[in-house]
Amino acid sequence: MKAVIAEPSKRISVKLIEISKPIPKRREVLLKTFCVGIDGTDREINEGIYGTPPKGFDYIVLGHEAIARVQEIGDQVQSFSEGDLVVPTVRRPCEENCLNCRIGEMDMCLTGNYFEHGIYRLHGFASEYAVSDADFLVKIPPKLEDVAVLLEPLSIAEKAVSQSFKIQQRIKWQPKKAFIVGAGPLGLLATMILRLKGLQVYVAATREKESLKAEIVRSVGGTYVNVRETPIGTLQERFDIVIEATGRVEPALETLNLLRPNSVMCFLGVYREKKACQEFGKVLTNVVLGNRLMFGSVSSNKTHFEMGIKGMLEIRNQYGNVLDRLITKRLYSTDFEQVFKPEKEDIKTVVYFKQC
Ligand code: BGC
Ligand code: ZN
Repeated sequence: MKAVIAEPSKRISVKLIEISKPIPKRREVLLKTFCVGIDGTDREINEGIYGTPPKGFDYIVLGHEAIARVQEIGDQVQSFSEGDLVVPTVRRPCEENCLNCRIGEMDMCLTGNYFEHGIYRLHGFASEYAVSDADFLVKIPPKLEDVAVLLEPLSIAEKAVSQSFKIQQRIKWQPKKAFIVGAGPLGLLATMILRLKGLQVYVAATREKESLKAEIVRSVGGTYVNVRETPIGTLQERFDIVIEATGRVEPALETLNLLRPNSVMCFLGVYREKKACQEFGKVLTNVVLGNRLMFGSVSSNKTHFEMGIKGMLEIRNQYGNVLDRLITKRLYSTDFEQVFKPEKEDIKTVVYFKQC
């Protein structure tokens, strides 16, 4: 079968190769992949700065945002039948089966020895067929077939928002204004979730006011800020909840000044720039004097995927086909060379596997 792979130790290594079809173990399911979404993590693996192949391999099959159909089930699998439409979660329990992994919170793994399909020590789903442990699959209502490839990134946004609200139970809190830094898929999906909760949402990014991203923000009732015209530091508004989804140090630091007392800020990026912050004392003092809270959030678990399914149905109800508009490029796996080619209005690229 065909698989889109990368060699994590090399720069620009993405390839379509022929590998053997996997055989599901007793608790596993054989999946026929419909399509996979591409994100910044895939890009980093292709650039040779992230990712680890499974033991015994020098490559990894890409793809951790997938939608697939159950093709075959292992003899110990009861919860799925052939033909079910599913989205697999990404993380699997660590070797030690730590406290959190044991209860299905692999996203909160304590040891770091977890596995991630398509990223870390497990093949992903960017192949005609793939396998996954049945316990970590989420069943998808057929009417979400077209957009469910966005469920994995949506689950990341759901986790960020739901954890923020949980954490804020530390005080009486009535959030009104949210600020989202970055208008990639994560930023846009977080915007939709927060709009559904009735918050005013400002989204800051570099694209023009007439861009598709800006239009999407407005179509869900948010306010788009083009930071080239209105730098973050000049904004007068102050926010109760902030989600940082650029992974860049500079906008993240600038945003710290927009936090209201008692607010919460969630970081979703991997901040690779080596930038010194001249005023770290001031940053920390500001955190203390306003009871402000900052936290990081990575990955997601099955409960966040389930929240995401509900979210998708609500988004559709409220805002029509806005989710479909996030998918700006659709390719077949045979055009894998185009996968990482940047285009002006890119939001989400999706790679399809021919269904014969
Ligand atoms: C995935 C997460 C994963 C993270 C770090 C993200 O792209 O969505 O599930 O934990 O990368 O590997
Ligand atoms: Zn663990």
